[in-house]
Amino acid sequence: MAEWIKDMRLIEADGKALLRRRGLAVPHGRRCGPDEAIEVPPGGAVVKAQLLSGARAKRGLVQLASEAEVPAVAASVLDQMRQMGRQPNVLVEEKVAIEAEYYLAWRIDDVRQAPVMLFSIHGGVEIEDLAEGVHEFVWDPLRGLHPHHVVPFLVGSGADRRRVGVLARFAAELYRMFVAEDAELIEINPLAVTPDGQVMALDAKVMLDDSARFRHRDWSDTLSAKLARMSMTPLEWRAAEQGLTLIEMDGCVALFAAGAGFGMALVDLLSDAGLPPANFADASGGTKPNAFATMGDIIMERAARPDVKAVVCFQTMGAASLKDAVQGLLAAWDRSPVKKPLVVGFTVSRTAEREMTAAEARELFRARGHTVISELDELVPALRQIVGG
Ligand code: GDP
Ligand code: MN
Repeated sequence: MAEWIKDMRLIEADGKALLRRRGLAVPHGRRCGPDEAIEVPPGGAVVKAQLLSGARAKRGLVQLASEAEVPAVAASVLDQMRQMGRQPNVLVEEKVAIEAEYYLAWRIDDVRQAPVMLFSIHGGVEIEDLAEGVHEFVWDPLRGLHPHHVVPFLVGSGADRRRVGVLARFAAELYRMFVAEDAELIEINPLAVTPDGQVMALDAKVMLDDSARFRHRDWSDTLSAKLARMSMTPLEWRAAEQGLTLIEMDGCVALFAAGAGFGMALVDLLSDAGLPPANFADASGGTKPNAFATMGDIIMERAARPDVKAVVCFQTMGAASLKDAVQGLLAAWDRSPVKKPLVVGFTVSRTAEREMTAAEARELFRARGHTVISELDELVPALRQIVGG
């Protein structure tokens, strides 16, 4: 189970556990759920909601509390999470004195095909508004990184010269963790500089590369993976178990498009046309030969609900066989007890046509009374005819 969660994002507590294991400084603290006793750190605490989305401080989900206040503050944050429909759990950490808040991150830059370090001396909750203060350091993934490699960059980015050594060691060790854990992103914001000259990660956002999952059997056991599972709808879960991606939305058009990029483009196109999609779907992760039929069943189930007025299936076929796709879709349609109007379109490569030509496929759908379109421009008019308006 849980082998399939894409974009594996870690909650802060799981991210900090990885940092701690590497000897990178994080505040002392403990995560606890509603029924667990809270250990109140001497001198008060920071109470932090543990969930898979960020910008918590602005939503009151990170709160400073004096020793006496900790139990009440923790109870109120837990309650807030419950009201948000989240699994209530908080990280209760020692308060750390802060001299400066920096921003430090490693991420994979898709365009440069290289790891990039991002650094700013203006860290903290307002960092999004200060994008121009963020400096980039591109590194060659084939070379080991040592602290001295980043010193000139840190100085050039305005880091306090007295702290550059400790910052450089932190940045280099963070890079080793980034590589060893197969991360796509590790973002430390804020990286606190304490009055005694230490640096400490007060927050951690870690995203792991899903394609490296086979090297990390333990990922599925993290609380982060459990929370990701819980935030799925039953139908999304069913798709995920098959290696497919489904995200349910509130619209009126059930959507089955090949490829995540093209699927997103269709989502935008339909939303702009006032025909909002009822889902986003991506079958490209499916490895089994009947992925089309499986996804077809899931889309038909989404389509069966009353708010959905039509089903769109638009496939761009490269190497996969068009015949498999067509038969899979028709089988799903036949199995579905509720049948909504179906609009079909596809663009295919020669390879995809090896068992069935595009002309044959179009004829098959037309003969069954479905709407067949040959260009994407025809999609919105065709849907308007069905949905009205
Ligand atoms: P986010 O809003 O989800 O990114 O939450 P953060 O974990 O980054 O916390 C938001 C802010 O709370 C930080 O920028 C700090 O200013 C403050 N903060 C977090 N932990 C501590 C702490 O241990 N001590 C102090 N003084 N402030 C903290
Ligand atoms: Mn933060």
